[in-house]
Amino acid sequence: MIRIIVMTALATLFALPISACANNSSEKETESKTESINLKTEQTMTTLNKFEFPKLPYAYDALEPYIDKMTMEIHYSKHHNAYFNNFVAAIKGTELENKTIEDIFANISKHPAAVRNNGGGFYNHVIYWQNMKLDGGKPSEKLAKAIDKTFGSLDGLKKQFSDAGKTRFGSGWAWLSVDSKGNLFVSSTPNQDNPLMDVTEKRGKPILTMDVWEHAYYLKYQNKRPDYVDAFWNVINWDVVSERYDSLVK
Ligand code: MN
Repeated sequence: MIRIIVMTALATLFALPISACANNSSEKETESKTESINLKTEQTMTTLNKFEFPKLPYAYDALEPYIDKMTMEIHYSKHHNAYFNNFVAAIKGTELENKTIEDIFANISKHPAAVRNNGGGFYNHVIYWQNMKLDGGKPSEKLAKAIDKTFGSLDGLKKQFSDAGKTRFGSGWAWLSVDSKGNLFVSSTPNQDNPLMDVTEKRGKPILTMDVWEHAYYLKYQNKRPDYVDAFWNVINWDVVSERYDSLVK
């Protein structure tokens, strides 16, 4: 039996509904993977008892035209699913089954590469799916104020975050995170690393991420990563990003 503690920690950290992360097998057979979820769904003991691959919180074509349907389908059902399965296989029967994903990442340098790569791949995509939505509004007043303080303006954040994604050599991610002092910062990580990992130069808790692996954009944008990065700003779910910020900075 795979532990559910990882998704529990994820849900706690980012106000994700456990029901979005875990379904029992009978539900999985009858429910559409593309069914919408309520991001504020209360956690329940029933759903805490299972740990399965999280549902995509929208239809594959929900982010058209910025992110195309085929990319979403392959990205979620093939790439993300493979990271999840490989992560589960990598921790099965080890002490890591009993740890939160935050604990695992905080000591990732001590664990096998399979845990680092697949655990990151599993976690990073959950954050990424959740922080996207077509016409996703704007930052909350509190988050907007913090963005202005750190980056001068929302455009200042866009520039720095976009540059982080555009200049990441090879595959990786761009991040907006909160550091230990409650301040915002932008960074990028290679491969499937993230700011929670002890191998990462600047550590913090992520509130927004963008996948810049070629599989995230190549079918539509081919070699033009900057076009995908620019389009990304049309699909940010600012409610989710603001909720994450609020949960971390009181
Ligand atoms: Mn990806």
